[in-house]
Amino acid sequence: MSRTSSTKLLGPESGDVGIIVQGGLFNVLNGRLALAGLSDSFGNVKVPTLVLNVTYPLVPEQIATFCAGKKSVLIVEEGNPEFIEQAVGQILRKADLNTKIFGKDVLPLAGEYTPTVIARGLTQFFAAHTMKAPALDEWLAQTEMHQKEVASALGSPLPPRPPTFSTGCPERPVFSAMKLLKKEIGPVHVAADIGCHAFGTFAPFSQGNSILGYGMSLASAAAVSGTQKKRPVSIMGDGGFWHNRLLTGVAGATFNKTDSVLVVMNNGYSSATGLQDIPSSAPEKDGRGNGLEIEITLKSLGVPYVKRQRTYGVEGMMDTLRDALTSDEKGLKVVIADGECQLARQRRVKPAFAKLKQEGKRVERTRFWIDPDVCTGDHSCIRLSGCPSLTIKPNEDPLRPDPIAHVNNDCVGCGLCGEVAHAAQLCPSFAEIKVIENPNFFDRMRHRISSALIRLLGGNRAAPMPAPAE
Ligand code: SF4
Repeated sequence: MSRTSSTKLLGPESGDVGIIVQGGLFNVLNGRLALAGLSDSFGNVKVPTLVLNVTYPLVPEQIATFCAGKKSVLIVEEGNPEFIEQAVGQILRKADLNTKIFGKDVLPLAGEYTPTVIARGLTQFFAAHTMKAPALDEWLAQTEMHQKEVASALGSPLPPRPPTFSTGCPERPVFSAMKLLKKEIGPVHVAADIGCHAFGTFAPFSQGNSILGYGMSLASAAAVSGTQKKRPVSIMGDGGFWHNRLLTGVAGATFNKTDSVLVVMNNGYSSATGLQDIPSSAPEKDGRGNGLEIEITLKSLGVPYVKRQRTYGVEGMMDTLRDALTSDEKGLKVVIADGECQLARQRRVKPAFAKLKQEGKRVERTRFWIDPDVCTGDHSCIRLSGCPSLTIKPNEDPLRPDPIAHVNNDCVGCGLCGEVAHAAQLCPSFAEIKVIENPNFFDRMRHRISSALIRLLGGNRAAPMPAPAE
């Protein structure tokens, strides 16, 4: 049995029971096994576990070898119907093995396999084999009790929340710009793609009419462009650009003289799958990243219309997209939307800030704030941004009962709030504030002067802008 191939055997080779799990579910399973004392945080499982990083086709010899000598095997497989369970049953039958299969009888047919769901399945599987896992049982009982308490406190289920971009994601402003532009030029066909940008399909943007496959947006837009009055817009990430779209999309569009707009989200990594480097990632000292230029590559393929735009500049992005959608120039028009993945950036800057703070050095970070006295509570900023940091809170003004918008402390200060407020001419309630750790003499002096000025101009009621809670 291979321990290095796309199918990985973890834990001991033999045992009375075993687990077969889809690769993507292993982390959730491992967490519950750790609670049961059958693994640790590093995945050192004590039950033979076959992790299927590739689920089709299964290798019959691997499955049969894994199951041989085991009384039963639990198959942890999300989705319905139970393809893996059926395939394993057939493999065992042909190999004349009578290992009992547990799967959808202890785990649900449909729905996400959350830690609680997997814990319930494991406890039933363990009970059937007189295996004891008191810590897991206790965790499950506490979790279920907590869930019941929350449900009864809420009264009715929470409204469903669509998945969305992470806080400060550089792709969000592109969809804000597209949403604002839609009011001006009307709807266009948006061919979405696989990647973070697929979240633009959901509220509050609702921009995405089709998704065909990874790297297929431009090719799929070509299929509908002849039926559209306006140019279709294809969205793609830089990872998908190098993976597939260069040939099926760009080369095809230039060859066929497709009149459409392509937006390449150039965030520097294959972000949706965990920040892997791609050919255009910046070269690193350790040799990672080739630094290939998307713009040069496009021009070498004969694309004459290539424009670059910083994603966070919403007004600039609107101008660039407007031009691409309405210019007299025929053929493919590419907009490269530049903005580093915020998750990657935060992983870089947060430890550096924490170190400076610990050393007693001055650290300044930016975040946004909403003036509660100015916010009208119409929440158009939330509808145009969808940032998880933008939320609502009760209005303390008894004459204005609507909840007002509020920026929580997760804000990374990407600046979209200010840009959207400006581009959409929203109320001037947004302000950029600096959070200063270890302030120096000048910071303290400036704070005193500005607080005094605010008191002077606003009377006793006016208070200095509050520093956010850490
Ligand atoms: S500035 Fe606005 S959009 Fe950007 S992270 Fe903060 S709350 Fe979110």
